[in-house]
Amino acid sequence: MRKIQFFDTTLRDGEQTPGVNFNTKEKVQIALQLEKWGIDVIEAGFPISSNGDFEAVREIARHVKHMTVAGLARCQKKDIDRAYEALQDAIDPQIHVFLATSPVHMEYKLKMTTKEVIASIKEHVTYARTLFEKVQFSPEDATRTEREFLLLAVQTAVDAGATIINIPDTVGYSNPTEYGEIFKYLIENVQSEKEITFSSHCHDDLGMATANALAAIENGANRVEGTLNGIGERAGNTALEEVAVALYIRKDFYQAEDNIQLAETKTTSDIISRFAGIPVPKNKAVIGGNAFAHESGIHQDGVLKNPTTYEIITPELVGVKHNALPLGKLSGRHAFINKMEELGFTLEQEELREAFAKFKDLADKKKEVTDSDLRALMVGQQTSESDAYSLTGLELNYHSDGEQEATVVVVMPNGKAIEASAKGSGSVQAIYNAIDEIFSHEIALNSYSIEAVTSGIDAQAEVHVTVINSETGSFHNAVGIDFDVLQASAIAYLQANNAVQQENAQEEVE
Ligand SMILES: [Zn+2]
Repeated sequence: MRKIQFFDTTLRDGEQTPGVNFNTKEKVQIALQLEKWGIDVIEAGFPISSNGDFEAVREIARHVKHMTVAGLARCQKKDIDRAYEALQDAIDPQIHVFLATSPVHMEYKLKMTTKEVIASIKEHVTYARTLFEKVQFSPEDATRTEREFLLLAVQTAVDAGATIINIPDTVGYSNPTEYGEIFKYLIENVQSEKEITFSSHCHDDLGMATANALAAIENGANRVEGTLNGIGERAGNTALEEVAVALYIRKDFYQAEDNIQLAETKTTSDIISRFAGIPVPKNKAVIGGNAFAHESGIHQDGVLKNPTTYEIITPELVGVKHNALPLGKLSGRHAFINKMEELGFTLEQEELREAFAKFKDLADKKKEVTDSDLRALMVGQQTSESDAYSLTGLELNYHSDGEQEATVVVVMPNGKAIEASAKGSGSVQAIYNAIDEIFSHEIALNSYSIEAVTSGIDAQAEVHVTVINSETGSFHNAVGIDFDVLQASAIAYLQANNAVQQENAQEEVE
């Protein structure tokens, strides 16, 4: 059987989703979970793009145990040098060099002739090869590039030492027939003494990202790039969990194997969804909340008689456990640690103490503390960085026929507490106005939504907010999880303010 490698770009392309800003701690946690999921190569970031990205790539390179760590670089020496620096400690470093090859990109974006583009590929892949054993080259916007020129660009990169060729459908323009043909054409025509890995990279603008990736595999690609939950620029990237499950369920057709541990899928998806602040749509393939729900009477009847009548994927396959034993008020430290390890969280002494206290607190209010609750609790804990403002008090005065009043107490990174009060036509608005009093920057609330972590009247509330930093125009997502809806709302908004504050601070540094 063929082997398909999985290349995850959740931390690079995925982070280009509007509003998504992972901090370094979150990125390391995601990287370790992706490693556990079975990812072969992780694109940890674009080191030259910011100090934060550089730092994150370096930290990930230091933490992962066996996964290849890749860094992105334009066809510029300084980009390649910076990636090399960031990947110093990686066990298996790889560089990903790219340059656009489509007529529209060359003419308007790069303002380069075809000759100049080919010369630049040759020069920079050659240079990258002096620093890296593994060099990947991507002709950006490949699917809108003329075939012969695409072949020339790829052959130039191969001759200069690239052994991995990635064909990005940058704008999500291609379809399975056409995309598959590009791979067939290149694999047949590229000349090389070394074995070349061909890789797909698709976007979902026309809803064909997964289908295109599978078409590439059918036509000889042995690596697939994508993200978890399909996050990424615009409509997003290929959802890797969809490809992994498709290869598994239709092994009869694809005849391919990979390293993905499907039972870790749910945990991996959850962590990324929470850190990204993007809930997984209920109807999402493979991991959506409704993926295993059978609504019609005929279907329910069939599934009860034999699950395979209407169910091709079992919840257990992707790690959705219905009968997982919930923890409760009487569960001890030992049971808690075991459960945490099972869910993929390795905690240091101090973190464990804090998490256990939070668990006990929750168990006092909620009879059954489920896996979802615990994941929510952990993700809530890990997003708080040391330089962040934290909420320590919230008080409300509710008037059924007038304006609401809120008072918040927030502790600053230096340990000083500030109190602020404000009014609003609703409770959440009053709270948000009060938090606005604390910060000097200006933001606009772009979206607010609320979801229950589990079912039942005692479910924890998960509030998602997106704000826009008025100074830079950039979006920031944040999540707040708490037993109480208003407290969760306050936490989410405060987290969003923390993100804006950090962005403004970084702007000053750079
Ligand atoms: Zn992309």
